[in-house]
Amino acid sequence: MNAEEWKRSLSETVEGFKSAIEKVEIENIEALETEYLGRKGRLTFLLRELKNFSVEERKELGKVGNRAKKEISEKLEEKRTDFEAKCARGDDRKPDFDFSLDGKPFPKGALHPITIVLGKITKSLLRLGFSVAQGPCLESEFYNFEALNIPQYHPSRDMQDTFYINLSNGSGMLLRTHTSPVQIRTMEKSRPPLRIISPGRVFRRDAVDASHSFVFHQIEGLYVDRKVSMADLKWTLETFIKDLFGEELRIRFRPSYFPFVEPGAEVDISCLFCGGKNAKCPVCKGGGWIEMLGAGLVHPNVFKNVGYEDGKWQGFAFGAGIERFAMLLFGIKDMRLFYENDVRVLKQFSGVEP
Ligand SMILES: [Zn+2]
Repeated sequence: MNAEEWKRSLSETVEGFKSAIEKVEIENIEALETEYLGRKGRLTFLLRELKNFSVEERKELGKVGNRAKKEISEKLEEKRTDFEAKCARGDDRKPDFDFSLDGKPFPKGALHPITIVLGKITKSLLRLGFSVAQGPCLESEFYNFEALNIPQYHPSRDMQDTFYINLSNGSGMLLRTHTSPVQIRTMEKSRPPLRIISPGRVFRRDAVDASHSFVFHQIEGLYVDRKVSMADLKWTLETFIKDLFGEELRIRFRPSYFPFVEPGAEVDISCLFCGGKNAKCPVCKGGGWIEMLGAGLVHPNVFKNVGYEDGKWQGFAFGAGIERFAMLLFGIKDMRLFYENDVRVLKQFSGVEP
């Protein structure tokens, strides 16, 4: 290669670079630099060729060559600055995903059956003018037993029935065995008229089987006013139970004893499965009735314990197990299914509205 050929070759290289840098994309600028200035680059090759020329020629050609190198370097630098500015402004930034592709469907969760039933009951009772009150799961004996007129000898106070917890400060607490302590806490804080429901978790020292668990859910209802009767209680329960199970359902009261009510009643509903027509019905055993919840008129001692004036107030209270409602409503025979988190069970409630 003589000096003329070398010069021609250099100007071709520079021209080639100029047209390439015009079209270069951000992701190719590194490759373009390597192509011209890299160890085996086109310009590097020409500059290395200089060693074959005479000292005079080398002087002259070297100058031209270095000027070309400077020009290429500057143009690359300029382009980089340009790209950086564009990226910072957000123009020309290509999305790294394709908008036109179909989205990947992802699995949707479903509400737990207990949550669904709790929602249904709550919704129905809110419509009747009740509001929701909450209380702690860790309770004192006073709120769980004494204030509710539950005497020392009552079996539910036994170590075998209740989880007692000894705190480090020496005071004894327990995991509430029912939602009824919320009645006391609410009455202590507010004056009648009161209409509250209190859904929540309760705890008993029960072995787990198809119809028992050491933790389950209850909903408590309390209505206090100047004149409240068994008729109000019956109408309220009938209304919300029919809301849940349907208009054809009948309910009945059987006299029963709970220390915090007087009179007290067990409330049964007519059998949803056989209507009392099947002597072999596994749910009602042919009797035609299913035990549903406990209720009654608030005992005067309970009013006394929260400091309400004697004889001035009347009220009703009821407590129901949510699991029991859910089992009947969804035809579930084993309570353990609610706690095992088996997706094959839970999936079936997808889309069921509370
Ligand atoms: Zn039946």
